[in-house]
Amino acid sequence: MTETNLTAQRHYFDWNATAPLRAQARAAMLAALESVGNASSVHGEGRSARQRVETARRQVAALAGAAAAEVTFVSGATEANALALQPDIGIEGAKIPCDRLFVSAVEHPSVLSGGRFAPDRVEILPVDGNGILALDALAGALKKADRPLVSVMFANNETGVIQPITDIAAIVHAAGGLLHVDAVQAAGRIPVDMPSLGADLMSLSSHKLGGPQGAGALIVRAGLTVTPLIRGGGQERGRRGGTENVAGIAGFGAAAEAARTNLATDTARMAALRGRVEDAFRAATPQAIIFGAAVSRLPNTTLVTVPGMKAETALIAFDLNGIAVSSGSACSSGKVAASHVLAAMGVEPALARGAIRISLGPTTTESEVESLLIAWKRVVPSLLKNHPNQGLAA
Ligand code: PMP
Repeated sequence: MTETNLTAQRHYFDWNATAPLRAQARAAMLAALESVGNASSVHGEGRSARQRVETARRQVAALAGAAAAEVTFVSGATEANALALQPDIGIEGAKIPCDRLFVSAVEHPSVLSGGRFAPDRVEILPVDGNGILALDALAGALKKADRPLVSVMFANNETGVIQPITDIAAIVHAAGGLLHVDAVQAAGRIPVDMPSLGADLMSLSSHKLGGPQGAGALIVRAGLTVTPLIRGGGQERGRRGGTENVAGIAGFGAAAEAARTNLATDTARMAALRGRVEDAFRAATPQAIIFGAAVSRLPNTTLVTVPGMKAETALIAFDLNGIAVSSGSACSSGKVAASHVLAAMGVEPALARGAIRISLGPTTTESEVESLLIAWKRVVPSLLKNHPNQGLAA
């Protein structure tokens, strides 16, 4: 691809925001859309819709190393997080309320909002300069609760930084608490095995792994019960009322299965391409800073800045060059706000304002990466024109 025809084609590097629909998901959705049937009806049509939902339940469970009966389908991970974060989780039939919620400072806003806990019962725990939860702060904080609920993401959506979930689970369980893990960005990118991680509850989102938007799951380990957010006709074993979104769920299941089947190859491919991207960024702009580069990260995510760059202008410039990237900041509603993740990591606001996120996926090609690198070399110097650190490597 030459520089001149860059804009003729679009190149998508925003997989952490949403992934393209996988072919398997599309096929499963079309089959479901073309069939009539309410999954709660007893006739053949109903049973066939039920079968699609139950197949998907097994597929989603398998991706997380869970049992099918532990999966509750919901409208997405925002709802899964809201369902999980509640004082009223029953253990082995007994209701001993969780008296406090502890969340890391780098969580998704749907976790930071605290779910159904009163605001004065929610404590935000600090992270280190790489965005990893401070384990001593966690252990100390849990002393304040009789039965804590802790929510920590497996991998961060902005930086890709992976949390030491097994260590966190050991600390939480030693304190008599329960652990919820938002595994939205990890699923389909690195192995996710709920039992060996020690998670009691886990949230997944369909659209981050190539399923449709508007579907997700909360996985609740056997022996625990959650109080529903939405009551209705008793669907999802009473955990979530409302006629099932059969096509969405079927697409989610098919995407989960494809993600699980191809995980090892996809991970290796993405890691190799991401390595190439980062090496080229460093070569072209030695002053570039890649956040979390010193610790374990997802194989597909790069959060990068160059001193003097502003994310909002960079995004537009890349977009005009046919490249879709995102700012590291929360921009889900179209506004570019300062990143709470980088702030929690102690990054200077001026530097944080320049962070852009490049996220790859299993079908990202080498030629797309070449286009990204050409755009980087073209766009970044123009953005740094008036900055003292503008010197770029040849
Ligand atoms: N948690 C994380 C870490 C996410 O990245 C997202 C999506 N931005 C969510 C939760 C919310 O997922 P959904 O879009 O399915 O509501």
